[in-house]
Amino acid sequence: MSQSPAAADTARAETESNKAARKRRRREPPPDPTPLPGLVDAHTHLASCGGRDAETVRSILDRAERVGVAQVITVADDIVDARWAVAAARWDSRAFAAVALHPMHAGDLDDAAKAELERMTADPRVVAVGETGLDYYWPGKSDSCASPDVQAEAFRWHIDLAKRVDKPLMIHNREADRDLLDILASETAPETVIMHCFSGDQNVARECVDRGYFLSFAGTVSFSNATELRAAAHLVPDAQILVETDAPFLTPHPYRGQPNQSYCLPYTARALAAVRGVEDAEMARILGENARRAYRLPLQ
Ligand SMILES: [Zn+2]
Ligand SMILES: [Zn+2]
Repeated sequence: MSQSPAAADTARAETESNKAARKRRRREPPPDPTPLPGLVDAHTHLASCGGRDAETVRSILDRAERVGVAQVITVADDIVDARWAVAAARWDSRAFAAVALHPMHAGDLDDAAKAELERMTADPRVVAVGETGLDYYWPGKSDSCASPDVQAEAFRWHIDLAKRVDKPLMIHNREADRDLLDILASETAPETVIMHCFSGDQNVARECVDRGYFLSFAGTVSFSNATELRAAAHLVPDAQILVETDAPFLTPHPYRGQPNQSYCLPYTARALAAVRGVEDAEMARILGENARRAYRLPLQ
């Protein structure tokens, strides 16, 4: 029995409306989570979330503060973004900046960029050098991505800068575990190293823990297929774990794919509490204290 033309039309219309509904949902911001006081977003991108003026930054941080996220570290990708990050940290006392050229943009690290980053890191509102490191996922896929050699060179420069200004080093690592850990070891890492959006397995986690690094977990730890990452999150000692949004990316489960902002942080903090078998409030206290210690933030 074949379908009548009318039925086929109805079926097609339904598929289309399902698609439209899915598309609409992807644009829709997740609802506010139940507040979880004491949290700090250890890594976000305010400018990429639309925070390019004082008022928008304030409204993003107001929404975050209402659910317990009292402070955020806003991170730069390129030199223009670095200026936005520093501006946000000056506009709002709840924002602190981290500046560097992202490994993808390592090719832009010329003398002018170095001089500007050096000036910026002297600012007390800039609390870390980052994100820097290695990204082996994008070379070959994106023409604008720096090659691994260029990335390694820029990484070494940023490690040295962090030591010179005595500020934490915030690491981006994508599919480059071994080279990244080797460079950190051979250059002698600064006192505080933060592995942002940790994505390694248990062996990498253990090596980072043994070296005294902080491991910062993003929404990826809540994804349904993240069994290995949850095992890594389980083995990190209380004193070395952080939580971040990496907003506007990596929105936690069950809102994966929708827009992310710092107010979504409690979803991931609760996912970590579940993985580690502790109360949500206790997890939040640990995560907040660690962030304030890692970045040497003033108490608020
Ligand atoms: Zn990153
Ligand atoms: Zn990031």
